[in-house]
Amino acid sequence: MNEAAEARTTCPYCGVGCGVIASVDTAGAVSVRGDEAHPANFGRLCSKGSALGETLGLEQRLLYPQLDGQRASWDEALEAASDRLRRILDAYGPESVALYVSGQMLTEDYYVANKLVKGYLGTANIDTNSRLCMSSAVVGHKRAFGADTVPGGYEDIELADLVVITGSNLAWCHPVVYQRLVAAKKQRPQMKVIVIDPRGTATCDIADLHLALKPGSDVALFNGLLHHLATQGVADPEFIEKHTRQSEAALAMAQDYPLERVAEICGLGIAELAAFYRLFAAHEKTVTIFSQGVNQSSSGSDKVNSIINCHLLTGRIGRPGMGPFSITGQPNAMGGREVGGLANMLAAHMDLDNADHRQLVQNFWGSPEIADTAGLKAVDLFEAIHAGRVKAVWIIATNPVVSLPDAERVREALAGCDLVLVSDVRAGTDTVQLADIVFPATAWAEKDGTVTNSERRISRQRGFLPAPGEARADWWILCEVARRLGFAGFDYSGPAEIFDEHARLSAVGNHGQRDFDIGGLAGLATEEYAGLEPVQWPVPDRQAMSGHAPRRLCRDDFYTPDRKARFIAVQYQPPAHAPDADYPFVLNTGRIRDQWHTMTRTGLSPRLGGHLPEPFVEIHPRDALLCGTADGGLGRVRSRWGEIVVRVKYSAETPRGSLFVPIHWNGLTASDARVGKLVNPVVDPHSGEPEFKHTPVMLEPFAVDWHGFALSRHSLPTDDFAYWAMAQGEQFRRYELAGRHAPAAGWGDWGRELLGGSEPQADWLEFVDATANLYRAALVVDDRIAACIFISPRLDLPSRQGLAGLFAQTELSERDRISLLMGRPADPAADDGAIVCSCFGVGRNRILREIDAQGLTSPEAIGSCLKAGTNCGSCVPELRKLLAEARAAA
Ligand code: SF4
Repeated sequence: MNEAAEARTTCPYCGVGCGVIASVDTAGAVSVRGDEAHPANFGRLCSKGSALGETLGLEQRLLYPQLDGQRASWDEALEAASDRLRRILDAYGPESVALYVSGQMLTEDYYVANKLVKGYLGTANIDTNSRLCMSSAVVGHKRAFGADTVPGGYEDIELADLVVITGSNLAWCHPVVYQRLVAAKKQRPQMKVIVIDPRGTATCDIADLHLALKPGSDVALFNGLLHHLATQGVADPEFIEKHTRQSEAALAMAQDYPLERVAEICGLGIAELAAFYRLFAAHEKTVTIFSQGVNQSSSGSDKVNSIINCHLLTGRIGRPGMGPFSITGQPNAMGGREVGGLANMLAAHMDLDNADHRQLVQNFWGSPEIADTAGLKAVDLFEAIHAGRVKAVWIIATNPVVSLPDAERVREALAGCDLVLVSDVRAGTDTVQLADIVFPATAWAEKDGTVTNSERRISRQRGFLPAPGEARADWWILCEVARRLGFAGFDYSGPAEIFDEHARLSAVGNHGQRDFDIGGLAGLATEEYAGLEPVQWPVPDRQAMSGHAPRRLCRDDFYTPDRKARFIAVQYQPPAHAPDADYPFVLNTGRIRDQWHTMTRTGLSPRLGGHLPEPFVEIHPRDALLCGTADGGLGRVRSRWGEIVVRVKYSAETPRGSLFVPIHWNGLTASDARVGKLVNPVVDPHSGEPEFKHTPVMLEPFAVDWHGFALSRHSLPTDDFAYWAMAQGEQFRRYELAGRHAPAAGWGDWGRELLGGSEPQADWLEFVDATANLYRAALVVDDRIAACIFISPRLDLPSRQGLAGLFAQTELSERDRISLLMGRPADPAADDGAIVCSCFGVGRNRILREIDAQGLTSPEAIGSCLKAGTNCGSCVPELRKLLAEARAAA
């Protein structure tokens, strides 16, 4: 790419799949903006997408292959990997080997991984972290439609008169789709939005009705709705007759769910439940969006089918403004499904348990064999590693030591595994630390290929920076190992050739029988592939390549043998483990607004780190009183599977009896906050998806003698703290700290050693009150602040944001030095407070000051005054809360 050139590519985070234009200026700095021509986002980006340019630094990248802890050449690493794999295959057979891959991979990388495992290694032991977020939706779709088909698209959400959002904090997890919905509702205020979620989330900001149902009770809720629709004459008999089967069994089962019983199971009032049912019955154009809150459950598949049943009964599917809509968590969860990246699927949406499909794929690949039984799903796979049945695992683009349930057992499993290969972009992750051989992979800005978003839209991801060090593309690494194992069929010249093979396979023997057909994209010339515009599948021929008009499926044709959809009769099952006297709370896990997965990329951005910089547990204040935990103090959350230590946050929006902990923190960013350690490894019997939303836990205070924080330009050692959490700031790292006992050597020596205050060039400022355990110190080098630390037995520490500005100064004034020792910002009015709007770096204190000074009364007024909320809009719910807070204070 030329200097100052632009690349049209795709955001690598959530399943919305926004188009991004990345520009590299003549100095090499990267900036991004939304692609106005991309039909997923039409120019919008959320806070995470907007900060992509801040996450491309190489400080923490893997740049060279490693073999047994030492830097190695590619040849050495690849030879060792293939030799060791071959020895294990020869000694223990194909089932002793597995790949664990990721919805972060591009379709082309995914395709090669699946082909290698299912066609050449002779096992189906390849599973993906998408198992953890949407495999229940896959089961639900396949049971109802005969294929893993998402019927509609984002435009349907805008066209709907009623949007039901269940099990999804859309505002934070799929922000651009949420903003499209906000804009549509603004245009058509008569549009209704219902949010179904045990928690009050930012998504409730636009809800006409919020149903805070009991965790895990969704099947009862939707069975009750099915019964209501059937008895209120809202069913569509013609559609049911012509296009479905098995309605009788589902309706018979739904009779067990009268309003009163549903209200009791769901913990809802009769009136609010009846209001939901009335609204659903009254609006033909209804879209039901569902996500992880539905899928991540021991009955996730049944929950999905209970939703789909209601759309089949009313015939509200496959037409503008209606349908069930599974919205995926990861950027390429859908692409992974398309190539068969799950252990129980075959390529191109074909079935592993269908002999004709197996034959077709094997013939197409010309492979020596084809797996004929499903492989191990994620949780079972790591259990098999723990038991020593799987002896070699290759983990690509994912961090299972953080993200899987019962995560400590996963760590043990990998520590005891004979051969662990890891391909990743980030050095030192919890999983990379356990690898025998590490392959440095190319990252977002360097990779070329395609991804598919939640609405079946295939978009190009285009590299615009050279690969750093010796990093190589995942497809190349996979092909090199395959070749060294002696397999033909992996001589690809690049992603275009792989995509072509993928497209051709989708069309072989298809003739409209299978939903996934992109045969029209086969045979693209290199330039055509390079310039491929976003396109929604199916694309059976070249004509279907152009235009953005929505392609809806499942209107009057499905993918079962008789082309009719199936109702699935499902019964409410309580979650696998109920709270008890020892573990009285239900743990719910999820994402926060400004971080992605295990923070290996978003954690590098100062502005994203400023919103919620520490791991936390949210608890209702009354429950917190019973636990004896203070707001802002530290708490230990414990389950039968493990324990973590996090900051306690009171939240009236967290329901009584529940706790919420985010999924993002890991061994690089906190002392002990991997929430996966707590999570019950029980899975849905059909999908194998774990129950991330319902683990019984307890909370207790985590006792420490002192609290503190440090801001430092250089990394600080953290081994000796009882608690620490690290976030990236602008020109510094922020460490939240806590410890037991004052240091034996005294605070002064301790602080000097920690911050490097004994260096000859250092100017050392220090205040010690040993009796009160109060300590403040700052390291100044060349008149610039290099680090500072504040310790107190209480939580009343100085404002971090108030001090952060000192790191931007080229020189510290005398006033600054005094203020450091006093533990107060020199200019309190310059203390913006915790970041609320990440896009423009606007903090809480500043917003409250302006609300007061200017008499601001709406988010729009705040936007005009401070710009906050005017870019991605994700902070608007928080602005509304600050307005309410200011009103209450007044
Ligand atoms: Fe990326 Fe945000 Fe768009 Fe998701 S909504 S794809 S995170 S910019």
